[in-house]
Amino acid sequence: MAVLETTDLVDDLSLDELLMNVLVLNAGSSSLKFQLIATDRDAIAANKDVRLCRGQIDRFGGEVLIVVLVRDGSRKKFSVSTRDMQASLEHLMRWITSDASGIHEIQAVGDVHAVGHRVVHGGELFGESKLINDEVLKGIEDCIELAPLHNPNNIKGILAARQVFGPNLPQVAVFDTSFHHSIPEHAYLYAVPYHLYRRHHIRRYGFHGTSHRYVTERYQMLAGVSTEQTNIITLHLGNGCSAAAIRGGSSIDTSMGMTPLEGLVMGTRSGDIDPAIVSLIATKEGLSAGETEALLNTQSGLLGISGLTNDMRVLLQEQAKHDDRRVRLAIEVFCYRARKYIGAFLACMGGADAVVFTGGIGENSPEIRARICHGLEWAGLRLDDNRNKQTVGLESQISTHDSRLHAFVIPTDEELLIARDTVRCILAGPCSSQLGRPPKVEELRVH
Ligand code: AMP
Repeated sequence: MAVLETTDLVDDLSLDELLMNVLVLNAGSSSLKFQLIATDRDAIAANKDVRLCRGQIDRFGGEVLIVVLVRDGSRKKFSVSTRDMQASLEHLMRWITSDASGIHEIQAVGDVHAVGHRVVHGGELFGESKLINDEVLKGIEDCIELAPLHNPNNIKGILAARQVFGPNLPQVAVFDTSFHHSIPEHAYLYAVPYHLYRRHHIRRYGFHGTSHRYVTERYQMLAGVSTEQTNIITLHLGNGCSAAAIRGGSSIDTSMGMTPLEGLVMGTRSGDIDPAIVSLIATKEGLSAGETEALLNTQSGLLGISGLTNDMRVLLQEQAKHDDRRVRLAIEVFCYRARKYIGAFLACMGGADAVVFTGGIGENSPEIRARICHGLEWAGLRLDDNRNKQTVGLESQISTHDSRLHAFVIPTDEELLIARDTVRCILAGPCSSQLGRPPKVEELRVH
């Protein structure tokens, strides 16, 4: 099968035809990632959304470094002496709206029609993306105890955007957990005393939902199947890694759990371990529970086994050059765990039509994909070795035509899904009457 058409966002569309310029924000503890994407209902249907620019604001000491990559290929880097998210965003918007940026579609702050936010945890409250109002904001606050390191930053991002663009600009929250809301009780409950679930909401939530959903929707388009016919296993293999079992287009199980620590082997996270090991490490190493958890999150996985790095590309290079035993072992444990989850999910789903690889490793490493897939011939998966080797950062089917279980590579695009959901929520929500005209500039002034 030919390499499928790339999903690179087109850059030759007439923007006059596009309805909304959506600013996508992903606010972390020391960085704010952003993208400006022009999209609307037709662009979504035709997969012809336009990425105007993207970049990142990083906090260093008393200042921030802003890096912007524009659609025409130019790159701008500047620092501003502030540590404040709102002030950084204002600076960014000043530059974007200036002639110097070359982003002609955004002449004034009013040319940004909506903001879409990545929000890490929606707990049991949010099964879908939401137009943000005070009640939704309160709900995101209520989920802080489930994601104490992430949700507070996401809230800061929402409040900063409210200040910069004014209270009337529609903002939408897209949750990392929402796609996994369809996981049934028997798959999300841990076998611990039930009152702990009731008291502390201890259950599987799953993460990377935006990525799993994006590649699921894209698979439907590429394979030409309906939502109901979509039975696949998606593998997001990046620095963080997770697998999801998708039946009838919905997630019915996933490898990450209450936190992103469970499941596959990751760059620095252990994934599944015997829980008794936690107290053993704590006792033997003289660590607190929190320190032990941090060790499992930041010192384990590929880094922990290899003792070298969490970076798969470097590990593969090292293996090719020196064939170091621990490097080889780290890669082998990584691939074995992924294969084990595919097998488990095939059993949970009663079979699947395809395995979809995404994330930095899944998209770019033919070797890792091959090592995961070899040994799955019993399930009907036969890799097309040439096609697999040729597929780096591209959409493609990489299994042979006669495979019973196909394999695909689909580069993820979480920001695009956030922009699209932002448009969908607005079209479905109370602000839809405002669409068709840009919001008034005076409503949306940079303060
Ligand atoms: P992500 O978190 O999705 O950005 O993925 C980061 C991971 O992808 C790192 O482990 C990288 O080493 C890995 N990666 C990126 N490109 C390649 C490549 N060409 N071969 C192997 N691993 C890669």
